[in-house]
Amino acid sequence: MNSLAGKLALVTGAGRGIGRAIALDLARAGADVVVNYNRSREQAEEVARQIESMGRRAAAIQADVAKKADIDRMFDAAEASSGPVNILVNNAGIEPRADVCDFDEATYDAVMATNLKGAFFCAQRALRKMRDAGWGRVINVSSLHELTPTGFSALYGMSKGGMALMMREMAKSYSRHGITINNVCPGATRTDINRKVLADPAYEAKVIEKIPAGFIAEPEDIAPTVTFLASDAARYITGTSIFIDGGLWL
Ligand code: NAD
Repeated sequence: MNSLAGKLALVTGAGRGIGRAIALDLARAGADVVVNYNRSREQAEEVARQIESMGRRAAAIQADVAKKADIDRMFDAAEASSGPVNILVNNAGIEPRADVCDFDEATYDAVMATNLKGAFFCAQRALRKMRDAGWGRVINVSSLHELTPTGFSALYGMSKGGMALMMREMAKSYSRHGITINNVCPGATRTDINRKVLADPAYEAKVIEKIPAGFIAEPEDIAPTVTFLASDAARYITGTSIFIDGGLWL
């Protein structure tokens, strides 16, 4: 299936985890992909090589999405070499865990800048060109915790709650331009973000017990929904959040 042939996707934080799975799945559907990374250059270049081996174009571009200047540099480079971004996936995110009373200002700023500000300014850059082209997709990798509190990472929950309204604001203003803007909301998914806590078998069992589907997702369980939202088959889906959580929110 090459439903995304000729489209350029940009996936933030795509060197590993859910972002990597999304980048590869979009490429499988025909898209060329900009693989953004912050520090893990080798991983991102490996993802880009895999995409190229499918016959697509790929570029690994460094940018710290917490910094608007980096975002502008990344979009300038992508547009200069490959043209405007047609599909933006805001995936980069961090989830520091602490008690509400123990978070410091630097952590607050880092979470909001990475998870929310970064997604906003990436979307702003992409939306301007999508509006001119009359076609576009913005898909944010939010979380089940845009709806329910975490109990272990208040700042993360707050940032994802913000992402829910950011998405709806943008969808309300921009969907008339042939652009759809949606969130995918994973539940517990095995990646580096939770590898340490899930290494404790007692904690892992407690998490699995709460999931009606009875297991923890892999990144490949999340990616196909993003590819679907990017396709023309999903042209009438905008302003919504799709939960991919094995029923965990119930
Ligand atoms: P991960 O830690 O493997 O991936 C996060 C990615 O974001 C990494 O590639 C990291 O380098 C990148 N990143 C972090 N800060 C960045 C920055 N400033 N600039 C650019 N890139 C940056 O974890 P993951 O689970 O794959 O996370 C991907 C997304 O999925 C996140 O937004 C996360 O909130 C969301 N999510 C994950 C889960 C889960 O259980 N794993 C559940 C719900 C939502």
